[in-house]
Amino acid sequence: MARTRTYATQGPKLPLAPFEIDRRPVGPRDVAIEIDFCGICHSDIHQVRDEWGGATFPMVPGHEIVGRVTRVGADVKRFRVGDHVGVGCMVDSCRTCPPCKADMEQFCQKGAAYTYNSTEMDRKTPTFGGYSTDVVVSEKFVLSVPATLDMAGAAPLLCAGITTYSPLRHWKVKAGDQVGVVGLGGLGHMGVKLAAAMGAQVTMLSTSKSKEADARRLGATGFALTSDPATFKRLAGKFDFILDTISANHDVQAYMGMLKLDGALVLVGVPPEPASIHASTFIFGRKTLSGSLIGGIAETQEMLDFCGQHGITADVEVIPVEKVDEAFERTVRSDVRYRFVIDIASLRKGG
Ligand code: NAP
Ligand code: ZN
Ligand code: ZN
Repeated sequence: MARTRTYATQGPKLPLAPFEIDRRPVGPRDVAIEIDFCGICHSDIHQVRDEWGGATFPMVPGHEIVGRVTRVGADVKRFRVGDHVGVGCMVDSCRTCPPCKADMEQFCQKGAAYTYNSTEMDRKTPTFGGYSTDVVVSEKFVLSVPATLDMAGAAPLLCAGITTYSPLRHWKVKAGDQVGVVGLGGLGHMGVKLAAAMGAQVTMLSTSKSKEADARRLGATGFALTSDPATFKRLAGKFDFILDTISANHDVQAYMGMLKLDGALVLVGVPPEPASIHASTFIFGRKTLSGSLIGGIAETQEMLDFCGQHGITADVEVIPVEKVDEAFERTVRSDVRYRFVIDIASLRKGG
């Protein structure tokens, strides 16, 4: 067992603070990783604050992990010491159910082992995330990060990147499609970059007028303020596809009005309360409302390779670990441009 420094919280109303855990010994199929950077996803905040229920403490958040391989088990084939690697939201799954066999481990019928606030597949051993100096992960759940990508900027690809890439691919978004991305935060800014790289015409739908110039710099060709009710009339029937990344309660039905015939709105944001939607919203225009959960491991590698080819990384604000609570507060206020990433060297030094 290797003693490992982390930043953890002991309960939903408590700040994060230094905490030591034991990482498991490196097994034959394991990869030991020294973490360089870990992104702060809004899901970290939802879970630390127990906004989705069922949170377990102590909790070490963090599922946008990049670092370097420090050791590999005897049977590891794909990685060598020194490789740049990443770990996302999952560290294991049953590997035998139909979704696992179809490379969709996120939908494992036994429930994947998530990177934190979860357990290993033995359903006993708690998992601890990337606000830590080191992690030991089964080879199958370790991703290769293209060497050309900036490591801090690559960290958010492991969740924000794949969560936006997967629905764009599943719904076959293509060149020329009209795409609306709702909410310009961590997920939203990756959604804009990725959809634009796929050739779509992207309109940013935001509550923050101050983000317009950034939206255009990120690749959006249109920007509309959703705090103005006229926007919903002006853009009625415009989009083939809308990606909704809003983390807070909002009127999903109003956004569905901006879809064209056979259009689809995909929810990736997870507001705490349920939405209320009338049947006519779907019936008129044969519209689809769907959701999407991160992406499988093979698709995550495909996304990383796509980002390598197109030179895509997240726009990040790198912070020392001591500033994590402040970063949580700023993220909740939509004051993030566009992902906070923890420099784990600050934790290694003493945090
Ligand atoms: P984030 O960086 O905080 O961005 C959320 C954005 O939503 C904000 O920047 C803001 O954009 C908009 N927003 C916030 N409050 C709003 C409100 N009251 N009304 C309208 N818009 C509002 O969060 P994130 O890390 O991108 O995560 C977004 C959501 O996705 C979270 O709920 C997270 O848990 C979830 N998530 C889901 C998955 C999945 O697999 N489905 C994976 C990762 C994260 P504007 O300022 O532009 O309005
Ligand atoms: Zn996430
Ligand atoms: Zn499974």
